[in-house]
Amino acid sequence: MVDNPSLYRDVLDTIYDGVYFLDRQRKIFFWNKGAERITGYRAADVMGRSCADDILCHVDKQGRHLCREGCPAADVLNDGQRREAEVYLLHKNGYRKPVRIRVAPIEDASGRLVGVMEIFSDDTSPESLRRRVALLEKLSALDPLTQLPNRRSMEATIASRLAETQRYEVTFGVLFIDIDHFKSVNDTHGHETGDHVLRIVAKTLARSLRPFDLSGRWGGEEFLAVILNVDAAHLGVVAERVRALIAETRIPLDEDYLRVSVSIGATLARPDDSPEALLNRADRLMYQCKMEGRNRVCLDNA
Ligand code: GH3
Ligand code: MG
Ligand code: MG
Repeated sequence: MVDNPSLYRDVLDTIYDGVYFLDRQRKIFFWNKGAERITGYRAADVMGRSCADDILCHVDKQGRHLCREGCPAADVLNDGQRREAEVYLLHKNGYRKPVRIRVAPIEDASGRLVGVMEIFSDDTSPESLRRRVALLEKLSALDPLTQLPNRRSMEATIASRLAETQRYEVTFGVLFIDIDHFKSVNDTHGHETGDHVLRIVAKTLARSLRPFDLSGRWGGEEFLAVILNVDAAHLGVVAERVRALIAETRIPLDEDYLRVSVSIGATLARPDDSPEALLNRADRLMYQCKMEGRNRVCLDNA
């Protein structure tokens, strides 16, 4: 999540709304320009401070102090559920200002709750609310490092595709893709080069699929692709193309090139699959590739 802070700064500083991010201890670690404008506090005033320090002193319509009772951010940290509320914040100059806040969980690549983001505006028109929701949804669906859909987004894709398979007998395939010996890329060339390799692999993967197929970052050096309307033979062809294109990628490094390979578990969804069953099967096939020497595709349903 904090892998690529410039992404958040650039996007979030261009919008009119206030946005801030809190870590699990409710300490502020991001504060955009909109938040500065609406509250009068500059980022330097609030960074590292806890929202429970009563900086903005949110009160509700009844005048209840939310930092003491019913802090929406604390509630989201407790149960991971998004919340909206109308509150009054205290501007740095001392006056009360009505704002509509929306608080959403921030998860890392493995789905662990690592903090919350709060977005707020002094313009409560429905149109501006819709724009804010759309932006939040976009941010919460993308992996910041690779710009591919993140794990949560891929889970939603798999769930809806499985529902379709159960109802209409259209099937789809899943590729579970894991970079081979990636740890040694980090160990030999450093974490930044490792990140660069992840971005290049993500690009190659996304471009080796048809426009309506989907790929995402599952976590770490693992990616997932969802291939629509295929039979086993065609799934094998797609998987092999992804493998070969990544193996043929040459990433310039110093005077030389860096090359990586991937192991791909490929399987077709079955009508009686749960998401877990489908993904476990793909993961096991990927592991089989590792056992057999890596840089290969293992396909069932063949
Ligand atoms: P194998 O061929 O068996 O898959 O070996 P591997 O080294 O790829 O697998 P292992 O699971 O041992 O190591 C994965 C490494 O990926 C360890 C971790 O540091 C690295 N990694 C995970 N996420 C990131 C990331 O976002 N950036 C970078 N640079 N490295 C990451
Ligand atoms: Mg792995
Ligand atoms: Mg690996």
